[in-house]
Amino acid sequence: MKLTLPAFDDFHIHLRNDDRMPIATSRLRMGGVIRGIVMPNIVPKSVDDAESAIAYVGRLKEVEPNFTYLAAIKLSPSTTEQMIIDAVNCPDVLIGKQYPAGVTTNSENGVTDISSMYEVYGWMEKYGLPLSLHGEVPRTPVLDAEHAFLPILRQLNKDFPNLKIIMEHISTAETVKTILELSDKVAATITPQHLVLTINDILAGRLNVHNYCMPVAKTEDDRQALIAAIKSGNPKFFFGSDSAPHYRTAKEAGKSSPGIFSTPVIAPLLTSIFAENDMLDKLENFTSKFGAEFYGLERNTETITLSDEEPYIIPDEFEGIVPLCANKKIAWNLAK
Ligand SMILES: [Zn+2]
Repeated sequence: MKLTLPAFDDFHIHLRNDDRMPIATSRLRMGGVIRGIVMPNIVPKSVDDAESAIAYVGRLKEVEPNFTYLAAIKLSPSTTEQMIIDAVNCPDVLIGKQYPAGVTTNSENGVTDISSMYEVYGWMEKYGLPLSLHGEVPRTPVLDAEHAFLPILRQLNKDFPNLKIIMEHISTAETVKTILELSDKVAATITPQHLVLTINDILAGRLNVHNYCMPVAKTEDDRQALIAAIKSGNPKFFFGSDSAPHYRTAKEAGKSSPGIFSTPVIAPLLTSIFAENDMLDKLENFTSKFGAEFYGLERNTETITLSDEEPYIIPDEFEGIVPLCANKKIAWNLAK
């Protein structure tokens, strides 16, 4: 069977700023993705304002010019009103991203106290810059960190009713329920890893560091709730891979880095996951409609064609970076 769809949007990608950047960026289109939000937690300095966003997008375009990069500026209590205005007026910037301090890569100077951000949220609401959240509370038990954030999410939706909020990479049944209860200004992204993995794929038997990301994959009930959220066809749930390349050496080190790389295999893998879960009819909305509509973007007109006529074995690694479901045989691949 062949399936032709609009090329995908990926509304949460890490493309880095070092020698991993060309490895990931040059494979965006290989994964069937032509537009995406590029996350700001890069080294040596994060993308904090429109000026640094323009510079970063320029560097990415040197590697792959044929892709629409939408930047995120990293929010902090030192974000000013002018920085929000400049971001809204900059065509390269789409959102403001907030990390809790110390939860993930290069988030050491993230936000510890939400109340310190209220002025910034007010400007974002006023000028129309969506707020993207890594919704985990630091220094709580890891499996409860997302759960602990949900009251904050509720409060933000209440206090800033006109602010668009995206809860990124959701991982629990309870979060799905909360997103459904909040207003239509609140949406969520879902990653491929949270659709295929549970905590047992990381911790049961031998420790598998390649399945380790933040938020960590939870229980089978949680995984099923994410699948059900997509199956429901609710436009609040759309695609963001959170693809985050780390070299095998960094993943297999004594202190393994969280993050799972999926950029080169997005379309084959997601299509296979959707087929396995009997929801291929929901794929187009999830990957190229709901997110675009939430952000007020035109839909992609370029198409990709997938086929299940020959299985695809996901490579063991891409230039030293191990992808999600490495070595796994999947049913769908981009048609030649
Ligand atoms: Zn991320």
